[in-house]
Amino acid sequence: MGRIVAIGECMGELSETETPGMLTMGFAGDTLNTAWYLKRCLNADWHVDYLTTVGTDTLSQRLVDFLANEGIGTHHVRRLADKTIGLYHISLRDGERSFTYWRNDSAARRLAADPAAIATALSDADIAYWSGITLAILPPADRITLLEALSQFAGRGGQVVFDPNLRPRLWDNTDSMRGWIHRAAAVSSLCLPSFDDEAAHFGDATPADTAARYRDQGTMRVVVKNGPGDVTLVDASGGLQTVAVPNADAIVDTTAAGDSFNAGYLAAELRGASMAEAASAGAALARKVIAARGALVPQAVGSTEN
Ligand code: ADP
Repeated sequence: MGRIVAIGECMGELSETETPGMLTMGFAGDTLNTAWYLKRCLNADWHVDYLTTVGTDTLSQRLVDFLANEGIGTHHVRRLADKTIGLYHISLRDGERSFTYWRNDSAARRLAADPAAIATALSDADIAYWSGITLAILPPADRITLLEALSQFAGRGGQVVFDPNLRPRLWDNTDSMRGWIHRAAAVSSLCLPSFDDEAAHFGDATPADTAARYRDQGTMRVVVKNGPGDVTLVDASGGLQTVAVPNADAIVDTTAAGDSFNAGYLAAELRGASMAEAASAGAALARKVIAARGALVPQAVGSTEN
């Protein structure tokens, strides 16, 4: 039995319903979405834990209950009395989504404030999964704490898996984002970037350039997603290959396409698939996720498992 620790922020999601003025409440966040799909894909073979910080209020407790109900371990969810979880509101008008966030002072920003808690969470783990969003929300000193903890974990043979998930609005400036993302890549052994973000913020001309840049930073293996385009893979010896993505039957909502791809990819690798087979599994899962509304799509998991 193995153990994966996903590290990041999960927020409350307020979305409009058909009834004007009525909102529904859910939970979402990039690393949580991946953890949720990983748990469903891997079932009983793996523990999937979530490392974050929440408040002691009712809303925070609802998030912890949600994680537990979904089979995600909450042992490493720390509580802070003076904070609560971040929130966002999503509205859909004529097919266009717009978001409003209240997350600047969220409890999750303190998730790396206690080095001992991170060390405990990672102590007997096999895989740590994190993202550029996880890094972006932390105070700079805590970014270093987390980078050092992951570096030590990697030094002990742990696998660190990283999705850069570039979000310039979460960073002071683009230069800072680029610098920290590369420091994150340096402690990660598998990097799962999305080409459109990387081209926009690093100026990469091709997915192969993206892969080469992360390899230069020290990431051994890179899987570059590219929407409906081929997935570009670079293995530990630097060998490059591409894998075609099946056409989508329907594109209803692309939320969590990348997050679910990452879970499908990783779950397949953990069952012994090659990088190319794992990329096909990731694409098959993402294809189902984008055919339905919302980030977490229960019916997307099932037939992609074998
Ligand atoms: P992100 O959601 O991080 O921006 P991408 O848009 O690159 O990531 O998509 C991640 C994966 O989702 C792709 O590698 C692909 O497998 C699948 N995907 C996304 N968009 C499409 C699409 N239009 N048709 C088919 N598959 C898609």
